[in-house]
Amino acid sequence: MAGMEYQAGLGLWIQKWGYSMTHKEKANQLLNQQYHCSQALFGAFAEDFGMDLKTAFKVSTCFGAGMRQGGTCGCITASLLVLGMALGFYDSQDRELEVYGNKRTDEFIRRFTEQMNGMVDCRDILGQDISIPVEMAVIRKEGLILQKCPKALNISIDILEDMLADHMKEVAESSINLEDIPENDEMQSVLKSISKLRRFRRNVNNLLLASSKEVGFIQFDIRKFKIVNDLYGENFGDQILDFIKRQLQEICLEDQYFINLRSDVFMVVTEYGREEELVAFIEKLDARINSYKDVKLQLSYGVYTVEDKKMELRQMEDRAAMARKAAKGNILTNILFYKEQFKESLYNRKFIEENMQAAITERQFMMYLQPKYSIAKNEIIGAEALVRWRHPQRGMIYPNEFIPIIEENGFIKKVDYYIWEEACRFIRKCKDARMESCPVSVNVSRVHLRDNECVKVLSDMIEEYQISKGLLELEITETADDQQVSLKALELKEEGFKLLMDDFGSGYSSLNILLETPFDVIKLDKKFMENMMVSGKGRLILEQVVSMANKLELGLLAEGVETKEQIELLQSIGCDQVQGYYYAKPMPEEEFYALLEKQYAK
Ligand code: C2E
Ligand code: CA
Ligand code: CA
Repeated sequence: MAGMEYQAGLGLWIQKWGYSMTHKEKANQLLNQQYHCSQALFGAFAEDFGMDLKTAFKVSTCFGAGMRQGGTCGCITASLLVLGMALGFYDSQDRELEVYGNKRTDEFIRRFTEQMNGMVDCRDILGQDISIPVEMAVIRKEGLILQKCPKALNISIDILEDMLADHMKEVAESSINLEDIPENDEMQSVLKSISKLRRFRRNVNNLLLASSKEVGFIQFDIRKFKIVNDLYGENFGDQILDFIKRQLQEICLEDQYFINLRSDVFMVVTEYGREEELVAFIEKLDARINSYKDVKLQLSYGVYTVEDKKMELRQMEDRAAMARKAAKGNILTNILFYKEQFKESLYNRKFIEENMQAAITERQFMMYLQPKYSIAKNEIIGAEALVRWRHPQRGMIYPNEFIPIIEENGFIKKVDYYIWEEACRFIRKCKDARMESCPVSVNVSRVHLRDNECVKVLSDMIEEYQISKGLLELEITETADDQQVSLKALELKEEGFKLLMDDFGSGYSSLNILLETPFDVIKLDKKFMENMMVSGKGRLILEQVVSMANKLELGLLAEGVETKEQIELLQSIGCDQVQGYYYAKPMPEEEFYALLEKQYAK
């Protein structure tokens, strides 16, 4: 199931998938993580065959070599292997299978060639030859792989999914009894699940045609299922999914259809009279499945009520999915009905994915600095570097709009490197101007903590700019106890970096992590400021945290400080360092530099 898995000996973090990813999302994520196209494509389907990613990469690395020699787009070779595995051309002595296999292969190549307007060679697609070092350097420098290859990748996946679905139709029509397929045969179980989906869709189509009532699509999944898995183990996760299936079997009537789409995503389609009935159905379901063996489960439900029964089924499913995703992010309710606006957030994602590479090459990302102050001295004691994206047409884009998306696809690494370097350059500039005591903290996304690159990148930057390690501080977000983060943090600490625990108190506040990981400073989340102003209890907790930090000899900085009252309160309980709009908002580098100059002139 999802999560990262450490392969001892290989020194590799192997990514296992998050729960609701499509083949395309998986493939594009791998491509963004610098795997080549055949690895990305084959890797995306690997789990369907019960193959782990490590093996998939080994297999597809061979295509990589072939690709360099032969020059054909790696997506083609990898796709043919997927087809071979899924459709079962396993017996080379079987003439009939061989002919069938060849026909399918031809069909794939024909459709690919047509949709790529004849471009099947790697060199044509990239405009450069990967077997020539000089041209390869150009490919790297201009990030051509991320610009050009997703098209071939996505087209391949569309064709593959379509062909696999068609194949299942043939299987179903040739009346093979699905129950005869042994459950433990990994490859066949792929076929089985595709076939279940087709049967489900056929039933739903019939319902849409026959029903005179309204029809609703309910899609749901478990919030933070990955964490449930991490905490209780994958077996337990599987038990939960089985449990949900059994509950659905019990509560769904004859013409209410459900399916387990993938991992923890389920869908139910039902008739209804009034919307209240749909909500009542969900509440009844939720009451049964919101806990399993004393573990509380939080479910997010997205609902799409069909307006036009002639609309494509896929589109109805997508709308229920969009509503489910929106429900996930909603703190007020776990049931949301589809709204037209959801489409916008999908467009936003697409916009970001399509424009992020150019944003790096065209230097559209900018470093803003937000000062940190000592209340007692009324002086700047440092700054946090925060990214801003200034898009030539769309204007300023704030991190909350794009960071979650680029964290998913791995692109955050490039953006962070960019900001880290800007911060180093700034520290160097201050050093040259003899303003040497202003540390700048940068954000280190959790994505970095999964591989071994960041320690070297940071050390190299320090070396290149000839600055002291103590001046580049690293902010890492606290999360549930996580060995991986602790280990990497320890490594960074041993390298001599100062570590700040970001957003303390916002999520899985765990005091354990304070003991396990050698943080130097904790940054109290904005929520603390909000809570302490409204309740005595909030204030009490804050006092305890401050006193604990003092005992552990940890530095403390309060974030999101906006009012004079907050400042006074913080001062009275012994927290001196603050960052927030009360003193200053994040600002362009030049403005911050001017503030520093003024302070040094005093
Ligand atoms: P964060 O690290 O917790 O950064 C603090 C955020 O709170 C910043 O939002 C800042 O503008 C905002 N803030 C500061 N003082 C106040 C205040 O008094 N009141 C309120 N309401 N807000 C305040 P920003 O710049 O929009 O960044 C949002 C988040 O995006 C950051 O939260 C951080 O998690 C992420 N982020 C920003 N830049 C980077 C980056 O370069 N790399 C990575 N990995 N993440 C970044
Ligand atoms: Ca931060
Ligand atoms: Ca923060």
